[in-house]
Amino acid sequence: MLQEKKTLNDIPTGEKCIITKVHGYGGFRHRVMELGFIKGSIVTVVKNAPLDDPIEYKILNSYISLRRSEARNIEVVDVSSFQKEKHIFNGTISEEARKIAETELKTIHVALVGNPNSGKTSFFNYSTKSREKVGNYSGVTVGATASKIKYKDYTIIITDLPGTYSITEYTPEELYVRNHILHDKPDIILNVIDASNLSRNLFLTTQLIDMNFRMVAALNMYDELETSGSSLDYKNLGLMLGFPFVPTIASKGKGINDVLDTIINVYEDKNKITKHIHINYGNTIEDAIELIKKELNKNITVRDQYSSRYLAIKLIENDTTITSTLNDLKNYKDILKVAKRQRERIERENREDTETVITNAKYSFIRGALKGNFTSNKDKKKNTSEKIDAILTNKWLGLPILIIFLWLMFECTFMLGEYPKDWIQAGIDALTGWLSNVMHASIFKDFLIDGIISGVGGVIVFLPNILILFLFISIMEDTGYMARASFMMDKLMHKIGLHGRSFIPLLSGFGCSVPAIMATRTLENKKDRILTMLAIPFMSCSAKLPVYILIIGTFFHKNQGLILLGIYFTGIIIAIFSTLLLRHSLFKKSFEDFVIELPPYRNATLRNTIIHMWTKAKQYLKKMATVILAASAIIWFLGYFPRTDVNKVRQETNLSESVINSSAYQQEHSYIGNIGKTIEPIMEPLGFDWKMSVAILTGFSAKEVVISTMGVLYNVEENVTNKVSEHNSLQDALVESKYTSGPKKGQNVFSPLVALSFLMFILLYSPCLASITAIGREAGQGWALFTFVYNTAVAWFAAFALFQIGSLFL
Ligand code: GDP
Ligand code: MG
Repeated sequence: MLQEKKTLNDIPTGEKCIITKVHGYGGFRHRVMELGFIKGSIVTVVKNAPLDDPIEYKILNSYISLRRSEARNIEVVDVSSFQKEKHIFNGTISEEARKIAETELKTIHVALVGNPNSGKTSFFNYSTKSREKVGNYSGVTVGATASKIKYKDYTIIITDLPGTYSITEYTPEELYVRNHILHDKPDIILNVIDASNLSRNLFLTTQLIDMNFRMVAALNMYDELETSGSSLDYKNLGLMLGFPFVPTIASKGKGINDVLDTIINVYEDKNKITKHIHINYGNTIEDAIELIKKELNKNITVRDQYSSRYLAIKLIENDTTITSTLNDLKNYKDILKVAKRQRERIERENREDTETVITNAKYSFIRGALKGNFTSNKDKKKNTSEKIDAILTNKWLGLPILIIFLWLMFECTFMLGEYPKDWIQAGIDALTGWLSNVMHASIFKDFLIDGIISGVGGVIVFLPNILILFLFISIMEDTGYMARASFMMDKLMHKIGLHGRSFIPLLSGFGCSVPAIMATRTLENKKDRILTMLAIPFMSCSAKLPVYILIIGTFFHKNQGLILLGIYFTGIIIAIFSTLLLRHSLFKKSFEDFVIELPPYRNATLRNTIIHMWTKAKQYLKKMATVILAASAIIWFLGYFPRTDVNKVRQETNLSESVINSSAYQQEHSYIGNIGKTIEPIMEPLGFDWKMSVAILTGFSAKEVVISTMGVLYNVEENVTNKVSEHNSLQDALVESKYTSGPKKGQNVFSPLVALSFLMFILLYSPCLASITAIGREAGQGWALFTFVYNTAVAWFAAFALFQIGSLFL
């Protein structure tokens, strides 16, 4: 942006400007355009003093006055400011000002509005060549993403909004979308409609029609409409509804340019179809609308901001958010009184609440609009979906199939990932070997090899495993199986005291807690949201996966996939118990049912899957280059200093070289050794040594850091010089690691039981800093602190019980 957005209202007396945009709803636009306020025209301000209302303008050769509230809807480029700088006298317009006005005139703000799962993000990604996440279930996009493209000689700024079924005030998404439309004033609303599910999608459309904005519809999933054998006369439908429909297949990028062309066409007011229609709500409601409008219109200024018909409808629906925006009007009380009287009348006459009456009227309108334009064939696609569902969500087979699928997912994550993991490990070993040969002994060499390469290298080897896990998750999301999984779990979720809608955030928790915590926004009730948020950390996030793989791979040689699945299940079971506990203590309440929508099965597209995996890989590598690198360096530093002169110690204590290993001694007496030794007594009953304790501590910054820490700490066991030849990897170092002092001196640090106890602790203890921050942001700082303490306590007791009971038997 070259300059601040200015409106006619901001231009002082005597100055000139060029009109670039006329905002506001249809009726307003029509009115001011008739007066000559058209894009591109030059306006001179004749009189604009702070207290003047209306303001007087000269446009072409006539004098016209506008109210301030009207002037605020007209965006302009201030010409006079350029004139003065360029010393050009009145009458001509400088080249520069003209250019700026020109670019503004050719900048179109477009907002994507549509149901969840209608393909908005797919459209957004294709048109802007970006890589936002798409998924075949609702609630994927939370918050908005905007991107700018050049198309023909226009700049189009597209905003991808969260999906909503309706624009009321019930969920954060709905409010978000509504605020965006009303306050950020997009030039065009692109309504993305899932053609395979017309009547439900058109419901949202009817609300947009009420709001009276310029609109284009992308008739998406057109491929599915065609294969189903149904037919839709979308041209005629567009004619009836007053805005153009353009068929698209967003997942394949088809029809995108047609949509952009149509957007430009509508923006330039050249579209023949565009007109404003009223949805007829029937006599009772129409009369009410008229009466309320009359009261509203006593304030001329509201009319410039909203369509008064829209306000009247919202008042009938008793929408508190819209109502409260009116409260500084002088006849606010009268408006409410009229609205209330009308509401009561409508409810009396229909014996139903007004919202239901209006909803019914909207659906009748949709039925009417589709009749004659839409002929539904027996939906083939749906039938295949139904056939697949008969098996995959079968009462008896469904759950076992889900479990087998999950088992397969973890087995592949483990087995297939092993090969590339070994290659990367070999590469890192070669690098370490080469560096220790060519570099002279120095602090920097130690830092590079023992700090950076050990720390970062230890984590980077797990990239393949993470990618495989995300491959599965992405396929699950894309095909629609994820939604089935939540459908099958729905009953179970209710038994636990969670909402059916909680399942998606919980499942996302297996990827990363941060987006999962954000995804709880789809829950309407705050208690449900917090309860879900508190359960998410027990879902093993992908950052913990490397720790599991390292420990399982080192200490268990059979059934590795099964053990991994077991860990995930333990997390789930503990989440269930924890939720039940909280539901019966802190969060007592009854909750409503929620219908989970089952999208038709779709083939996962290669493109989506690759985008998804690439995004993950990028995030992982970025974390590696930032958090993990820094943590490795700090941990190395804390372990390397203060330096102790080991020879002196040997002389003083009269012990031989074989008894005091210099590096280990050094490390044990370093800063980190001291920290570890301080917390060791707390961790000892769980079977952990001080190094594991430190790893747990540092893992709070990011869970992968647990491994980097272990990489740095355990790899120094032997003398630095022969270290490389002795250890191939961290795994060997862990197996060989022994206690060097204390009552357990000489014993192995790890046993399978210690390993299990450690896994248990890692699984359950406080989520990382980023997640805690996210919880703080979403639920309040108190809950963030609660999560930190609560999870760590749960982890401690679980690991304690496991280790102590296990010790009795082993
Ligand atoms: P959003 O929730 O509206 O952002 O929808 P997404 O863009 O995430 O898409 C939902 C699902 O529909 C994804 O699995 C897409 O691959 C798929 N999809 C999107 N557009 C089309 C289309 O035109 N045809 C078909 N068959 N699938 C589509
Ligand atoms: Mg989306």
